[in-house]
Amino acid sequence: MRHFWNRIKAELLYSGMDKETYEEILPDIYKHNKRSVTNFSLLVTIIMLFMMIVSSYWASFSAYHNLYIVCFIATATIYVLTRLSKENQGTRIIMLLHALLGVLYMFGIMMGLAKGGDGVAGVFTALIMMLPLLFIDKPIRIALNVFFFVVVYWVKSYRCREFVAFLYDAFNILVFYSIGTISMFYNMRMKCEALQSKIREQQRQKIKEAYESASKANEAKTAFLFNMSHDIRTPMNVILGYTDILRKDCTDVARTKDYLEKIHHSGELLLSIINNVLEMARIDSGKETLEFIPYEVEKMSNEIAVVYSDVAKNKNINFELKVETTTKAIYLDATKIREIFINLLSNAVKYTPEGGSINVYVKELEPKAEGMASYCTTISDTGIGMSPEYQKVIFEEFTRERNSSGNQIQGTGLGLAIVKKLVDLMGGKIEVESQLGKGTTFRVYLDYRKAKVSDIKSEKDFQQENVNFKGKRILLAEDNDLNAEIAMEILGEYGFEVERAKDGVICVNMLTKSASNYYDLILMDVQMPNMDGYKATRAIRSLEEPSKKDIPIIAMTANAFEEDKKNAFAAGMNGHIAKPIDVSKLIEELSNIFH
Ligand code: ATP
Ligand code: MG
Repeated sequence: MRHFWNRIKAELLYSGMDKETYEEILPDIYKHNKRSVTNFSLLVTIIMLFMMIVSSYWASFSAYHNLYIVCFIATATIYVLTRLSKENQGTRIIMLLHALLGVLYMFGIMMGLAKGGDGVAGVFTALIMMLPLLFIDKPIRIALNVFFFVVVYWVKSYRCREFVAFLYDAFNILVFYSIGTISMFYNMRMKCEALQSKIREQQRQKIKEAYESASKANEAKTAFLFNMSHDIRTPMNVILGYTDILRKDCTDVARTKDYLEKIHHSGELLLSIINNVLEMARIDSGKETLEFIPYEVEKMSNEIAVVYSDVAKNKNINFELKVETTTKAIYLDATKIREIFINLLSNAVKYTPEGGSINVYVKELEPKAEGMASYCTTISDTGIGMSPEYQKVIFEEFTRERNSSGNQIQGTGLGLAIVKKLVDLMGGKIEVESQLGKGTTFRVYLDYRKAKVSDIKSEKDFQQENVNFKGKRILLAEDNDLNAEIAMEILGEYGFEVERAKDGVICVNMLTKSASNYYDLILMDVQMPNMDGYKATRAIRSLEEPSKKDIPIIAMTANAFEEDKKNAFAAGMNGHIAKPIDVSKLIEELSNIFH
């Protein structure tokens, strides 16, 4: 019984669907209703107009002339109002008209306009009354219909005392009301089903698209793995091959140096591949945030350009930089800005053959708002260019126009994907124009907040040659033997005495047991067995003796991201150096602490 009632309710209120689906398609139903009512009311208005004309010339219809006028005005009003209304308002307007019509109808009967009990009048009045029925999508509307039916019936029967006419009237209204109601339900049902199947079709389409894009991504990843394994293997081969040769014979100093140079270069290449892959994964995970610092526009431009002007010169490529700016300093995320432009410049150099030229033009544009500075940076080369087809997917991950085995130029196809994501992250825009064999132009548009030159922290130029740390003692917490050996070797060269602890616990113990001021600094690996670097730092910072408690601690870790840096500082460390160790950075950091 309950089930039966629920079915009826669902049928009456939600056209046989569940409530959620119904509500989801409600906007479409409103749209459909609006269309039905406008069409229907227009039709009836035209009929009424026709009947008005007929009844003024034809005697047997003349008795209903006034009725047709009333009906004409009513339907024309409905037409105009629904035409003008917004979709969901239409329903509300019709509700009001419904009430109005009911009143008009009763009024008409009472004034004798409809000559109570007449069939033709019944047809048209019922037609008009059917209109609002189209909107019966809420219980209140059903209630209103029932209410008007009862009232109208009562008024009519009151006017027509003869029993036959009374029955005739009752029949009339009942039939037209029933037709109206049934056709309304039918109409709604059909519409809802059509809408539902449209939704199903859309869902099918979405699933299909998702499937296609997933399999495309999968293909790209497979291709990437093949390319990657090629790209990783190549420097790996170099490293293993040359170390093998050197193991057998390293007496020829010049040759050894040359091989070591090549090994080092391959190592750097490997590192950049790994960094790219990691960076991409990080951006995709949405963890990337921006960190703004004030910087001079020209200085930043020069710093970036200088890296590649040398590379270009070596390749006999003409390199030019032009900076046009009235704003001196801006707030920017230096690391990410460098990443964007270094990627673009490295491509320009990579894909431009000898004898070509590269132009970099930094131009300040009209600012978009007070206190802002807008820039367009153009990087154009006369290199190999790209086909129009490739330009469509240029910013997609792992895509390359030619793979490394094909053209000998190495890369992961992530550079531009990273660039695009970073530019998006900064709210900027990047454009590309390219012609095969002619060259390529990238344009990057970015907005920055203006900064005062006085806000820029002055960095003293660092002279590496004249640093000496003789007599300084470092406690090195590092679990990996090879890493420890490398670090001790490098540090030894600069005059440090180094003692090693194999994990956090040993590190804290060695410090606690030492005489005060015995160690000058701790270099702390983060991931270590027994106690990690963060915990060890916290333990040290809670020691009693001031000279030990406040000893400088620098994190030296393979966790190289911005938030690892933050974690290090949060744990109480004073600095952060990423592995693999960049010697000049390490020495710079150390001299900042010691001098
Ligand atoms: P990496 O990830 O090491 O940067 P990559 O340079 O191959 O590798 P992207 O920087 O994303 O990857 O560039 C993708 C592709 O776009 C390149 O492989 C190259 O085919 C094309 N391309 C990019 N810049 C240029 C350019 N200036 N001239 C010609 N082709 C270019
Ligand atoms: Mg690249």
